[in-house]
Amino acid sequence: MTNVADASASPILEVRNLKKYFPITRGLLRREVGQVRAVDGVSFAVPTGKTLGLVGESGCGKTTTGHCIMRGLTPTSGEIIFHDPVLGPVDVATADKKLLFQVRRNMQMIFQDPYSSLNPRMTVLDIIGEPLVVNRIARGQEVEDRVAELMRLVGLSPSYLRRFPHAFSGGQRQRIVIARALALNPKLIIADEPVSALDVSIQAQTLNLLQDLQEQLQLSYLFIAHDLSVVEHISDVVAVMYVGRVVEMAETDAVYQTPKHPYTEALLSSAPIPEPEANRDRIILSGEVPSPADPPSGCFFHPRCRYAKPPCVNDTPALREVAPGHWAACHFVEELSLRSVQAT
Ligand code: SF4
Repeated sequence: MTNVADASASPILEVRNLKKYFPITRGLLRREVGQVRAVDGVSFAVPTGKTLGLVGESGCGKTTTGHCIMRGLTPTSGEIIFHDPVLGPVDVATADKKLLFQVRRNMQMIFQDPYSSLNPRMTVLDIIGEPLVVNRIARGQEVEDRVAELMRLVGLSPSYLRRFPHAFSGGQRQRIVIARALALNPKLIIADEPVSALDVSIQAQTLNLLQDLQEQLQLSYLFIAHDLSVVEHISDVVAVMYVGRVVEMAETDAVYQTPKHPYTEALLSSAPIPEPEANRDRIILSGEVPSPADPPSGCFFHPRCRYAKPPCVNDTPALREVAPGHWAACHFVEELSLRSVQAT
């Protein structure tokens, strides 16, 4: 299979055949009796200055993928090539501590929950200024000036510098998280469900802020989410994950207008639309998402797929380019005529 990562002309991040397996152990001696294949051969590329949306149901491995890229988790195998503006291409998967420390200046992560990701005992000045101090980039008044600048950048008043997180709303706290992530002038932001803990009205403001910052600072985003409408709003390219694997990837319009994988079709049909009264023929996915500790044979989606045929039970479909720049892992792409959001 041609590497999917090659699909992008000038990527800032290339993930190649990434795997993260967790051992299942039993007994006093903790004998290994199996593996949870949380991420099982994932490849994609984040184009420079653009957003790749990584979408899928909870437990599909998207958050584990994000943590592997930041090296919060060490991958079982695969490559994570980050094109650092100073260091050049670095394989984060195998980088030593010193190299990781350097690379992480340019790669930052934003987490889902702005309530638990801020230390309640630290002031906003200390929270946002911490990366500057740890990396010895500024001290004293310089830190305060830079934090004030970052607060203005994310739409917060610098007069709140000495307040504690509890004094802010959920949306304001997420702005503090974003300001902290921007402190070191990163090039790539990995945003893990950054708006799913926020009220719907605040979600749109936060997404707009992220888009403005992207334009202003030429940022690249890996945007991890389960909500298809959020992903569509912000992404240039979308990769759909199912049980640890990418099953479809293409430019956002292509995925939403002409889905090529039955799982994507089902996700799109169940996504909320602005006209709740509209007559829609939803595709109800039967059963649960399979466990990555014991996935089905063949195509992992076959127990829930309404188009499944006998070969799907034993033969694993490869992720292949089924139209220019459009990748899908299904044996019967060419035979299926799947529905987009508009057509349902
Ligand atoms: Fe469905 Fe078969 Fe395609 Fe899998 S390979 S998505 S089971 S039709």
